[in-house]
Amino acid sequence: MGSVTRKQFLAACGSTLVTTLSAGRGARGCAGPAQASPARPSRRPASSAGPATTTPGYLALHRSGELKRRSEALWRLQESCQLCPRRCGAARLRGERGFCGASSALEVASSHPHFGEEDPLVGRGGSGTIFLRHCNLRCVFCINGDISQGGPGEPSTTSQLADMMLALQARGCHNVNLVTPTHFSPHVLLALDEAVGRGLRLPLVYNTSGWERLEILEWLDGVVDIYLPDMKYASAEMAGRYSSGARDYPEVTRQAVLEMHRQVGVARPSADGLMRRGLMIRHLVMPNDVSGTRAVLTWIATHLPKDTYVNLMSQYRPSFRAGEFPALARRITRGEYEDAVAWARQAGLTNVEVQGYRWL
Ligand code: SF4
Repeated sequence: MGSVTRKQFLAACGSTLVTTLSAGRGARGCAGPAQASPARPSRRPASSAGPATTTPGYLALHRSGELKRRSEALWRLQESCQLCPRRCGAARLRGERGFCGASSALEVASSHPHFGEEDPLVGRGGSGTIFLRHCNLRCVFCINGDISQGGPGEPSTTSQLADMMLALQARGCHNVNLVTPTHFSPHVLLALDEAVGRGLRLPLVYNTSGWERLEILEWLDGVVDIYLPDMKYASAEMAGRYSSGARDYPEVTRQAVLEMHRQVGVARPSADGLMRRGLMIRHLVMPNDVSGTRAVLTWIATHLPKDTYVNLMSQYRPSFRAGEFPALARRITRGEYEDAVAWARQAGLTNVEVQGYRWL
């Protein structure tokens, strides 16, 4: 491979794309019987895209008591758990662990300022990242396999989670960034309600695999300020093979992303460069087109505004169990990433973060 500088490569890729040239970023890296849901929150009108405000959406819900009500309603869904598209029905309130590995006991892996997230989340003070244990998707290539699939950790209380949120705020972080929160969404809302009462005012970032139930997202409407979902696959076959049988991932995630956009709109930074509201999509380019990158980007460009924020991630490396699968057992090539950037441009996307690229 001839040597091409990063500058030459990006120039060749097109000038309409946002080029932050950062190193790899991103903190991350089954069905059962239906259960009647508690009365759902009323559906708010779609968010109008525009500059982010400095007031987190959850404040009004806290003051009205709605945040508490929603956290309690979500909590009850753990009885025969229906919190995620797996809908495995685990009796979490009786101590049973679900497919994701979680019982009703909250488990937090770590909490700290993170400087490896997207620039508008990091700013000067960092993104206040809280890693939650366990995961409902269980991808074989998970970069945090020890946290997501590494077995039980120490239980925490929701008050301790509130303490962590407030400690991150006190350290100067610009947001509370919850990594893989889906299976602990009741705990997150309970902790948030307590933390807001004690002075929390940071935007809430929901950093998710994207595989979310619409019914659960409706409970998060007005609570979450920034949705940070993955769109991992375009193909049901790939999703099923590498994410524990979740063949409905592409369709479920598309619907979820549309709902997230309806709630928070296009992500646009404030005058100080920080993001306080909006949808920020991550797409990890994978070797051998496992990720179906062209189809994912085309779908985004077709169904969402062209200036939807997309982080086109180049940092894939074979982690966790990926070495057992030939298609996943290498990093991506320069050509694969060049193709991805070209497809983003061809699709008409105008707000794509193109990452630094290391040739191997
Ligand atoms: S969140 Fe976990 S326990 Fe609940 S349905 Fe999903 S996999 Fe099952």
